[in-house]
Parts: sequence; structure tokens; C-alpha cells
Amino acid sequence: MHYRIIPVTAFSQNCTLFICEESNKVAVIDPGGDVSQVIELIDELGLSVEKILLTHGHLDHVGGTAELIERYQVPIEGPHIADKFWIDALDQQCQMFGFSPVNGFSVNRWLEHNDTVTFGEQVLQVLHCPGHTPGHVVFYHEPSKLVQVGDVLFNGSIGRTDFPQGNHQHLLDSIKQCLLPLGDDVEFIPGHGPMSTLGHERKTNSHIT
Ligand SMILES: [Zn+2]
Ligand SMILES: [Zn+2]
Repeated sequence: MHYRIIPVTAFSQNCTLFICEESNKVAVIDPGGDVSQVIELIDELGLSVEKILLTHGHLDHVGGTAELIERYQVPIEGPHIADKFWIDALDQQCQMFGFSPVNGFSVNRWLEHNDTVTFGEQVLQVLHCPGHTPGHVVFYHEPSKLVQVGDVLFNGSIGRTDFPQGNHQHLLDSIKQCLLPLGDDVEFIPGHGPMSTLGHERKTNSHIT
């Protein structure tokens, strides 16, 4: 499996393509917006979209979902159902963040801790990591030691917990009990900003010590 990152929206959210090299199938993670750029790259790479995966319900992560399924008619998997209230409130999120209105969508499969998600010949492990939002999940590809963590953990920082139903202690528990045990050598793609490894954050990130 390999990956491509496309920063989208005014928040430079890391929309991520997980690409199965064997099948040319792609899972699009967190299509927050700027959908034409995402489609352009998919076309340029000659990929076939199999699924949309969502880490959590914030607008900058899900705002382009409806537009993308209009084009590809693929299932939407994730986040955990505890984030349904965020997805149901897309209109309010658009107003709150000053985005143009976007269409709503229905999640086809809500995910639970330790579920697996497949695309092409790849299997991703789902970890429920609440705190930034109550239904936040991350997608781990064990064979490549790569995890897409959304807004749970960043290079040098951690997710905000001042939104409705955010919880700082839950976030720390998610990072320490779910993410870090995956191993120091695991690379992660955060929802915003540059990549890092879990080991680098474990040793240097002052927010989790
Ligand atoms: Zn978020
Ligand atoms: Zn975000």
C-alpha cells in the first residue's frame, strides 16, 4: 500500500489516499473539501475509488463527502456513531466555520473499536480514539506501519478538546492506551500539518508527557 496526501480547505486538512498497488483501488480518507483537486489526482494516478473513510465528523474532514459520492457512488465507512451529531449538524458547522453550505450524506457503516476496513487487497485496523470528538476513529495499516490519526495527535501537538463533547482526559487515554502501543516506529499522518512517528511524539511531545 502507498499513500498520497492532499491538503484541502482553508484548514489545510490532510485528505489522504490509501492506495492498494496490487489492485489500483483507493480509499479516500477525510475528503473535507476541494473535491476537484482530489478527483484530479485520482484520475491522474488512474485509480478506482472503492470507499470513503471518515475519522470524525468535523466539517474540514467530511465536507466534500457528498460531492465525492455523487461522482463515485461508493460506501462511506466511519466514524464511530458517537460522532453522528456532528455529521447531522453540517449546516451549523458551515456557518460556524464560514464555509459555503455543503450537502449532507448518510454513513453506510459506523465503526467500532477493533473493526477492520478493507479496500482492494488491503486491511485496515480501526481504533476508536475519543477525546477530540467522541466518535473519532483512526485507520492503521499494520503491514506498512502507517496510521491515519485525524485530529487525535499532531507533530508536536494534540487535538483540541474545547468543542462540544470534547474531553481532554479521553484524548490523552486514546493517545497513550491506543496509539502509542502500536510502536515507536509507526509513522502517522495527522489531520493537519507534517507527518511524524509515534516514537518521536512519545519522546518529545510535551502535551502527552
Ligand atoms: Zn477535528
Ligand atoms: Zn481537523
